[in-house]
Amino acid sequence: MCDDWDDNAEVVVPHYATQAFTRSNGDTNRNWRDNSQREYSHRSAPREDRRNGYRGGGNHGPRRNNGNDATAIKVPSKFVGRIIGRGGTKISDLQFESGAKINVTKETDGNETVIKLIGDADAVAKAESLIRDLTIEREYKQFNPEPKQEEAPVEEEPVAQWQNPAPKPAPTEEINWLEMFKQCEENEKAEWAKLPPIIKEFYFEHPEVTAMTDEEVENFRIENNNIVVERTFKTENSKPVPKPIQTFEQAFHKYPEILEEIRKAGFVKPSPIQSQAWPVLLNGEDLIGIAQTGTGKTLAFLLPALVHIDGQLVSRAERGGPAVLVMAPTRELALQIDKEVKKYEYKGITAVCVYGGGNRREQIKIVTDGVDIVIATPGRLNDLIEAQHLNIKFVTYVVLDEADRMLDMGFEPQIRKVMYRIRPTRQTVMTSATWPMGVRRLAQSYMVDPIQIYVGTLDLAATHTVTQIIEVIPDDDAEKFKVFMDFANNLHPSEKVIVFCGKKARADDLSSELSLAGLQCQTIHGNRDQSDREQALIDIADGTVQFLIATDVASRGLDIDDITHVINYDFPRNIEEYVHRVGRTGRAGKTGKSISYFTRGDWAQAKDLIAILEEAEQHVPEEIYKMADRYASWKERKDASRPSGGRGRGGGRRW
Ligand code: AMP
Repeated sequence: MCDDWDDNAEVVVPHYATQAFTRSNGDTNRNWRDNSQREYSHRSAPREDRRNGYRGGGNHGPRRNNGNDATAIKVPSKFVGRIIGRGGTKISDLQFESGAKINVTKETDGNETVIKLIGDADAVAKAESLIRDLTIEREYKQFNPEPKQEEAPVEEEPVAQWQNPAPKPAPTEEINWLEMFKQCEENEKAEWAKLPPIIKEFYFEHPEVTAMTDEEVENFRIENNNIVVERTFKTENSKPVPKPIQTFEQAFHKYPEILEEIRKAGFVKPSPIQSQAWPVLLNGEDLIGIAQTGTGKTLAFLLPALVHIDGQLVSRAERGGPAVLVMAPTRELALQIDKEVKKYEYKGITAVCVYGGGNRREQIKIVTDGVDIVIATPGRLNDLIEAQHLNIKFVTYVVLDEADRMLDMGFEPQIRKVMYRIRPTRQTVMTSATWPMGVRRLAQSYMVDPIQIYVGTLDLAATHTVTQIIEVIPDDDAEKFKVFMDFANNLHPSEKVIVFCGKKARADDLSSELSLAGLQCQTIHGNRDQSDREQALIDIADGTVQFLIATDVASRGLDIDDITHVINYDFPRNIEEYVHRVGRTGRAGKTGKSISYFTRGDWAQAKDLIAILEEAEQHVPEEIYKMADRYASWKERKDASRPSGGRGRGGGRRW
């Protein structure tokens, strides 16, 4: 870490990598295992990746951040600290928001410091504007007092003291930022070093697993929803990925009480993500699971978490805070995870769920009473941490569940604030349905040589119990509503329906129309209060209403066993969402039916939809094939007309 500083004339404030940075050398307490190789591997390549990867690393579009095309701006030296922020958090924000790399240099005349901005023109302009907002605009008044005499009197702005007509700016003392950062890093390292070492290795490869040949491993992965597993940021020194387990016994033979809990749950065999994730997580490695709800991902990270908690040196009583933290995007998902966690009893481990909208006072009490696992939405979590009701200093195992969803919902700043407060040597797990740039950036910032597991569209298995009907209808709201009402009016009283809409307003409109038509319904979307959402779930579950109208965000993790129909009133934005929605019916050994209204505007989804329907041996309307063809030719023409011959793929790989 420090050699970086010493080698450079400039202070290259690490991107989010402050964490990773500290992590490389801050690991003085990792002597419980010989991992010098691993240490070396992440010190070299991923560090480089991070440096170069302001737009997500890898080969995503042109960048010019090679240090030669830097734009230099000057800022008053006394504001440099404000630009950098505590531990580099502010500068990370600025870099993230602008897309430019921001280097605070040592060049200063005593009053002003040179800052170099590196990146494409837009990014540099954005960075400059953000920095000016932060400092120079305000400071400008102070440094240029001349216009004052001629100026018409203006209302005084009741703001910060640097705007007050200070007598004269005192000569600014040069601050040695380099020294200050080093000191900061050292202090942090010293703080973390006071804590007991984290024990991470709990895996004992079963002889049957050891005996598997490479070919058997390969075949097992292909046959189990085509598991793809790899190191995300592969380097020459990366260790091989553990082989998958095929039975619960193979994973937990050293933990009979866990096996007993699984037996009680009545599961027959591990799901594909569990097969691959358990050896990785029990082995103490960081993991990214690209998997949807319904794949058994919760148990994939939960059971190793239980083993991890129990295996730490420090007793729970001494700890003073949770050992495991799970962040989830929505209250519904957080509650869903909580429900899942509470199904398993292991050595008296306790969990609590905290979320915005719930009773804060009650949540504070439980949190401060001491628990092992905290499951939280990022907003409420920050709130409790900042109010010092929750101490996350002792967290050694972190899960970011549905990371893509959390980023979509704008939680990145909160996630980063939380991660900054957790020991860099922790074990980190992330799940995500997709692999977009934002998620990749999180991985680069907070994970050490992670192993990434893709499971094929496992929820497809769920769609096999569903009859999937596609109705191609005109792109006309009145017509769509009429088609829907024909369906709704012919429903048997014992049937239950979830109706998915693309927008909250649409869900509200539909709900009013149904009520006007005398049909009992409930609505669940992001603008509804927590208590209303909970009531909606109760009402559909106990049959008080026959219709639940939902948007995608609110429907994550919806787990109601006896839904007979899913209506895709608006076709979803991507095919993963389609599979997720359809899987809300046909659960718990029952069959179900999905009806999707497909209009001209949905043509971009036709090709993916065909693949899903064919795989599940469902009827594909002729018109859907035609739409797929028409879309393909349109796209080809469009790409050909672009001067560059078409853009990159974007959106990242799914599976
Ligand atoms: P999740 O993907 O975590 O939302 O899990 C979906 C559901 O699958 C939950 O109700 C779990 O209890 C259940 N589940 C988890 N693991 C297994 C398994 N190995 N076999 C059958 N069901 C499972």
